[in-house]
Amino acid sequence: MRRLTAGLTLFAATTSLGAQTSTQTSTQTSTQTSTRTSAPASPPSAAPARRLVLLHANVIDGTGAAPMRNVSIVIDGARVTSIGTAAASGTDTIDIGGRWVVPGLIDAHTHIATLAGMKRALESGVTTVRSGNTPHYEDVGLRALVRQGVIPGPEMLAAGVFVTPYLGETVLADPRLAPYANAVLTPAQLTAVVNINIDRGVDWIKTRATERAGLADQDPRKQVYDEAQLRAIVDAARARGVSVLVHAHGDEGAYAAVKAGARTIEHGTYVSDSTLRLMKERGTCLTPTYTTLMDLAEPGGDYDSGPLHLRGLHMLPRAAAGITAAHALGVPVITGVDTEYGPSSVSRIPLEIMYFTQLGMTPMDAIRAATSVAAGCLGIGQRTGTLRAGMEADLVVIERNPLEDIRALQDAVIVITDGIVALKRIPFGVR
Ligand SMILES: [Zn+2]
Repeated sequence: MRRLTAGLTLFAATTSLGAQTSTQTSTQTSTQTSTRTSAPASPPSAAPARRLVLLHANVIDGTGAAPMRNVSIVIDGARVTSIGTAAASGTDTIDIGGRWVVPGLIDAHTHIATLAGMKRALESGVTTVRSGNTPHYEDVGLRALVRQGVIPGPEMLAAGVFVTPYLGETVLADPRLAPYANAVLTPAQLTAVVNINIDRGVDWIKTRATERAGLADQDPRKQVYDEAQLRAIVDAARARGVSVLVHAHGDEGAYAAVKAGARTIEHGTYVSDSTLRLMKERGTCLTPTYTTLMDLAEPGGDYDSGPLHLRGLHMLPRAAAGITAAHALGVPVITGVDTEYGPSSVSRIPLEIMYFTQLGMTPMDAIRAATSVAAGCLGIGQRTGTLRAGMEADLVVIERNPLEDIRALQDAVIVITDGIVALKRIPFGVR
């Protein structure tokens, strides 16, 4: 359980998060628990709970069930304790006046390595992120800040250093990586780098089956690890209870990764039907990061160059076909936008959700892709991704019904993470 404790100095320097003091629940040190992805839900806090009640909410709970109309959401400390029509009162009450509530969104593929990036993600409605690697364990450090209540979130699932054939500058992340500076190719080398990451406390291992899309001199279809190498990585991680996310644009690499036991395939741009069938069979999830390809193909954003523009135009229709086919086949497709949430980034989860609705998902399916389905793929579905009694109080308030206008998600007016009001943009008062 991650409680707001010592205030929000790091964030407060750059923003006014006015409602936080009213929902500050504890001055005692937060209860630290391991939140490895397979871990059970955190134990209840010993702190005296403040009760936050949201009145007059229309709730989409993330399960796919029909919306609950005009209900009260009761939050005790970091958890939802009830959602229903019974009269409720709390120490803090927010009348949200018929606005809509969805579970906090999940970004299953980020590269956040800064405090400012965490804040941008949170304010876009994202309450959980999975790292797709950071250069020097910044994700592990950010996770600690959230767990200790120094910043309000989002909850971070860290991946540490990319397990990749050539570490480049990331060799500097840990002195024990020095012997692997020039090659991470053999089973012994692959296992060693996985173990250094796990020793540093990562929740996931990130590796690649193919080259990158975002570097003009690489060909994203080209395979870099074969099935045996990928299996060495998966086996080393699995031996310590850690799952693996595998970057793969080209189909040969994606297929090898699925065969080797990847939990999620990242991008999957050129994925074939036979690979998708294998994913369906094995329950492997797909994080297509479609919004990032839009960013390649359009001016501005994280990527802005001629060659990448052409590449994006080529990749987009292939990725679109893959997403449509994957969803039709029943492969779990989840949201991730592959950004650091830097100042130029235009990639956001509500955009990914909107694109999913253009590629064959109903609005409800697309919301589930960002909430319950993503939580399931990340192994955290027992505590977030749906809004029910007992779950973490991770939620977003928006103005309108997203089932009627999916763009409503692009304008978060309140974001609550682990019961902390992290964003409150409209002037109805906390009473
Ligand atoms: Zn990435």
